[in-house]
Order: sequence, then C-alpha cells, then structure tokens
Amino acid sequence: PFDVLVVGGGPAGAAAAIYTARKGIRTGIVAERFGGQVLDTMAIENFISVPHTEGPKLAAHLEQHVREYEVDLMNLQKAAKLIPAKVPGGLHEVVLENGASLKSRTVILSTGARWRQMNVPGEDQYKNKGVAYCPHCDGPLFKGKRVAVIGGGNSGVEAAIDLAGIVAHVTLIEYDSELRADAVLQRKLATLPNVRIVTSALTTEVRGDGEKVTGLVYKDRNSDAHHDVDLEGVFVQIGLVPNTEWLHGAVALTTRGEIEVDHRGETSQPGVFGAGDVTTVPYKQIVVAMGEGSKAGLAAFDYMIRTVPA
Ligand code: FAD
Repeated sequence: PFDVLVVGGGPAGAAAAIYTARKGIRTGIVAERFGGQVLDTMAIENFISVPHTEGPKLAAHLEQHVREYEVDLMNLQKAAKLIPAKVPGGLHEVVLENGASLKSRTVILSTGARWRQMNVPGEDQYKNKGVAYCPHCDGPLFKGKRVAVIGGGNSGVEAAIDLAGIVAHVTLIEYDSELRADAVLQRKLATLPNVRIVTSALTTEVRGDGEKVTGLVYKDRNSDAHHDVDLEGVFVQIGLVPNTEWLHGAVALTTRGEIEVDHRGETSQPGVFGAGDVTTVPYKQIVVAMGEGSKAGLAAFDYMIRTVPA
C-alpha cells in the first residue's frame, strides 16, 4: 500500500506529492489529467517570482518536478470512489473507474474544480481570446477596455467591482429580475460610475471577428428583444463547481459540494486530507493551491508518524 495517495494532479496535488516524497514515504498520484486547470490557461502573470508564464509550460514544469522524486504517477486514471478506513490507523481505499483499487494509509484529495459555462455559441471558440473566468488572473489583460460580467451573485458582483477599477466599462448581466449578491456588495457596485447593470437578461451569444471577442448578445426576458453590446471581454461568473461528485458520503461536503477542511487540511475522516480548489479554502488560485497542497502533505506526514497502523 501507499503511505500517501494523492488524488488529482493539479498544482495542489503536485505540491502535496513533492512534499511527502521528500519525507521518503511511499507516494502515489492518481490524476484524470495531470496539470489540471493550468492546462487550459494561457497567460499566467501572478505566479509569484515568475512574471510571465503559460499554462502548458507550468504544467510541464510541475510534472518534471514531481518526477525528480520516486512518485508513482498514474495519469489518465479517474477515481470513482473513496472508502475510508473502518478503524483508526487502517487503510483507506480508492477505487478507480477502470475497476482497480488502491490502498493507502493517508489520502490527499485535490481534484480541483471547473467553471460553470454558459454553453452559448462563441463561448468555447473565444475562450482565452476574450472569454475569461478568473478576474484575479485575467482582469489586467483588459485594462482600458470594455467587458461584461455574466452573473449577479457574490462572485459576479465582486468581479464587476474589481474590474471597474481596471477596465473602461463593465456591463453586469443577471438572469434574474434582481441581483443576488450581498447587500453590501450591491451598495458598493451602485456607487461605481462605469458599471451598467442589466437584469432579467439571458446571454445568447458571444460575438467575435474570428480572432477575438467583439461583443455579446443578450435577450431581455421581459420583452424577448435581443440586444447587442460591443465589448472586448466577457467574464463568466455563474459558479465554480468542485469535482466531488465521487465523494458523496465519504467525507463531509458543504451544500456547494466543497470538501470541508480544517486549518491543517484534514477532512472529516482522520487521515484523509484535502487541498486546493476542491476545498472550502477561499480564493482559487495557483499559488494558494500549491500552498494548501504543501500543507496537506506535511499534515499527512504528521498523521503517519503519530498513528499506529491498524
Ligand atoms: P486543478 O488544477 O483543477 O486540478 C485538479 C486535478 O484533479 C486534475 O489533475 C484533474 O484531472 C484531477 N481530477 C479531477 N477529478 C478527478 C478524479 N475523479 N480522479 C482523478 N483525478 C481527478 N490561477 C492563477 O493563480 N493564475 C492564473 O492566471 C489563472 N488563470 C486561470 C485561467 C483559467 C482559464 C482557469 C480555468 C483557471 C485559472 N486559474 C488561475 C485558477 C487555477 O488554475 C486553479 O486555482 C488551480 O489550478 C487549482 O489547482 P488544484 O490543484 O486545486 O485543481
């Protein structure tokens, strides 16, 4: 069996595995797609100490760093079920979609999350060419330009406030007849001169010139009229979905599906840890995920040296 089995091969999982492998304990990683969301990212400008890199390059560096150590890297393998140990110090079991089963004294869950998409024409075509999901990451790329934010919940309104300080103009588009964000955020938003709020509106298309975004089309849900907005960027803020469908019943999740972890990254199951975008830890960013992964790795090691094997 493994001492540490990491499920998920993004920045969090890679960091966790490097930390545990450096302790000389038997470490494995199971990843559906090693590299994670980083593979879908173009410019990365907030990976501290590296002023500019690209997603695929960073993912290759992650793999290279992991392979410096004796880590059993099982790529293109999807975990389907976690069966926690029945007794303290017992082995946890991770069942893969292909039917294989892996046993480990500790497990680190780092399966990340995915942005909910609008699923309208143009969204996929112009991803990274004007369609963006992360204002902390891509906001500065739209300095002085016009953008829309789709979604009037907390993350959408936060994004609109954040972007209003960088870009020329923000159009906030909400499907419901009113915004759903906290009142304090809505009050702040209302004070900003370069934000227009459109409610009861359904985005139906992202328009572009073949190279990049040039506008979007929304339908007024009261009149059914279609409206065009000329702009350079669209930030989709309609939800970040944690990849925890396979964990229901195994560890405690919030109503939004995030894994509940304590300050050391431990879940509701002793010896099972969580790290990165899949957990309740706020601010879903590469450096945060790496920090949390390192923490979970150290916490797993700590658990190992304090727990008598069953
Ligand atoms: P992820 O990167 O999501 O990795 C999850 C891993 O788990 C993957 O290997 C996946 O294949 C695997 N997995 C999922 N389910 C299973 C399963 N059942 N079994 C096995 N493996 C599974 N952050 C920044 O800091 N700067 C940026 O500029 C930036 N730009 C971004 C641009 C885009 C388009 C996107 C989508 C995100 C961006 N982010 C950026 C956010 C950043 O990518 C994430 O915060 C970070 O990747 C989270 O790392 P993670 O390891 O927690 O999860």
